[in-house]
Amino acid sequence: MPLVNPLRSLILAAAGNDALRRLVATTPISRDVVRRFVAGETTADAVAVARDLVASGLTVTLDHLGEDTTDKALAESAVQAYLDVLERLREEGLASRVEVSVKLSALGQVFDERLSLDNAARICAAAEQAGTTVTLDMEDHTTTDSTLRVLAELRRTWPGTGAVLQSYLRRTRRDAQALAGPGSRVRLCKGAYAEPESVAFPTMHEVDRSYVQCANDLLAGEGYPMFATHDPRLIEILTEQARLHERAPGSYEFQMLHGVRTEEQLRLSSAGEAVRVYLPYGQEWYGYLMRRLAERPANTALFLRALTSRR
Ligand SMILES: Cc1cc2nc3c(=O)[nH]c(=O)nc-3n(C[C@H](O)[C@H](O)[C@H](O)COP(=O)(O)OP(=O)(O)OC[C@H]3O[C@@H](n4cnc5c(N)ncnc54)[C@H](O)[C@@H]3O)c2cc1C
Repeated sequence: MPLVNPLRSLILAAAGNDALRRLVATTPISRDVVRRFVAGETTADAVAVARDLVASGLTVTLDHLGEDTTDKALAESAVQAYLDVLERLREEGLASRVEVSVKLSALGQVFDERLSLDNAARICAAAEQAGTTVTLDMEDHTTTDSTLRVLAELRRTWPGTGAVLQSYLRRTRRDAQALAGPGSRVRLCKGAYAEPESVAFPTMHEVDRSYVQCANDLLAGEGYPMFATHDPRLIEILTEQARLHERAPGSYEFQMLHGVRTEEQLRLSSAGEAVRVYLPYGQEWYGYLMRRLAERPANTALFLRALTSRR
């Protein structure tokens, strides 16, 4: 069962509070808490943290924060941010270890799927030139078909474009089987959005069971599975399943969020597993931070201590 966090609704309410956002941004100690989960606001911040992670043996996927863009100009500035960071990754020789994750809703999907495809194609072309790949994050279930359509289009030119599947969706077993072909990079996660029971499993037990079944389908296939989870029980099962499928480490990978179970990331990596860190950056960090804090009581306590400490 998920842990119940009594401060969750308070923290989520704070996500909409501008005064608190300013306080968090300017208090030195809380800035450290922000830095635990988010690389910073600029391309230079993102590249600097990615470089450190790579130096410690990890790989990285960079996420320029922002979603649900309803404006063409904002979608364009998200594209520019990705082009900028890809160029920097190329210059710094980091592109073989650092890729990018993209939310189509930040590229205009909400109001124009074609625009989001064209924008994503520009990012894929820049990633190819830099020597790296793009993964399309998956958002709420109303966007799943659209995102998989865009993915299929992008893969005609850039077959290495990564997909994300969410095990909480009832449809995902079929999607996993369809996407388990040669060279197909698929990130499997539990899913992060509040979804209705008509489309999603209502219990953690069913979500976990679906995760294991989909993982099995991906490992039995010819693609490159990317297991995004912090769940120790799942990680143990996945490691065992990979062995049973005679998958060598490096023919699949684990993924975790920056700042979450950092020691476990390093432990898996030193045990020979490929581990990728999802590293968000950009000016839209506040909502992301609040969601991370709301997930775990320990994170909330850390945050409140930081805010109330003297400078
Ligand atoms: C790399 C990455 C990419 C993702 N991309 C997407 C995406 O594109 N779309 C999407 O919908 N969702 C995405 N997610 C989020 C994902 O769907 C889950 O919401 C999130 O990862 C929490 O699920 P979990 O598997 O970690 O396990 P949970 O069910 O949240 O937790 C299970 C167990 O894991 C351990 N654990 C979890 N969190 C922590 C923590 N903070 N500290 C210590 N232990 C912890 C605990 O033992 C806990 O009991 C992504 C997650 C990751 C890691």
